[in-house]
Amino acid sequence: MISAATGLVVLLGDPVGHSASPSIHNASFRALGLDLVYLACRVDADRLGAATSGLWALGATGANVTIPHKAEALRLSASASDAARALGAANTLVRAETGWHAENTDIDGFLEPLASHTEAVGQGRAVVFGAGGAARAVVYGLLAGMPPVRLDVVARRAEQAEALVADLAPFADRTDLRACTEADAVPEATLVVNATPLGMGDGRAPYRGPFRASQIVYDLVYRPEVTPLLQVAEASGAVTIGGLPMLLGQAAASFRLWTGREMPLGVARDAALATFA
Ligand code: NAP
Repeated sequence: MISAATGLVVLLGDPVGHSASPSIHNASFRALGLDLVYLACRVDADRLGAATSGLWALGATGANVTIPHKAEALRLSASASDAARALGAANTLVRAETGWHAENTDIDGFLEPLASHTEAVGQGRAVVFGAGGAARAVVYGLLAGMPPVRLDVVARRAEQAEALVADLAPFADRTDLRACTEADAVPEATLVVNATPLGMGDGRAPYRGPFRASQIVYDLVYRPEVTPLLQVAEASGAVTIGGLPMLLGQAAASFRLWTGREMPLGVARDAALATFA
């Protein structure tokens, strides 16, 4: 029951209508008996400051931030984690003493499903397709959490891949980080990550395979759960990781920051899948 005591968490973005986050978080709040409600609000590009100040004045517990506000949310925050600063983007705001504290939980969300492969990734090569916001979180996460020997960022626009590599080069002290327009390194890679929207209902894939059984293929796209890239990888016997574990992982990390509790992952997963049905 929503009451006068109910706490508020909000998703700020544009668009937000497709988001699974309200279902994931509200189902989790209910399951743990937490007196919180999660709402999704569309905010115009030039109104983020008004929105975050208003939320602060309302006593909100926290917020998620999505496209196009991630960089501006960091700029407007009173403090930020090293990871959010390194990426120049925040996806989570946490109420602190003097203002909003900015975090980026996409990094933890990405790394968590890879945890059992840390050693293999660290001893091998990795290829990341895409050079947008998600690719930045992926590359920073790999460099900080399980630095591969070599990491190729493959994008159709060379300048976008080069900008990512230039920005994250300071964190690549143990990795040969390269910007590429061709996927030549895939056959040699231990880890292949799709951080483009290819496969999101369009039947397309950034790479057509085949893969080796020792390779790990990770697709950030979570709808469909098994993308064309993952179908090819599964057929090759490779290890596959879909985007849903990352979606739940970043949500669980935000949930922990707001509530100090572990998100009930089974409940959250069922809630996410129900929104995709
Ligand atoms: P973004 O900032 O728009 O970046 C997308 C990247 O993909 C850009 O490098 C873009 O290049 C490239 N790209 C787009 N269409 C392409 C095509 N047809 N061929 C080759 N490259 C193409 O988006 P994002 O925020 O990084 O998100 C990327 C994907 O990751 C989305 O599908 C998103 O849903 C998914 N994602 C999943 C999670 C999760 O929790 N599982 C989290 C974050 C993101 P151009 O700039 O040249 O178009």
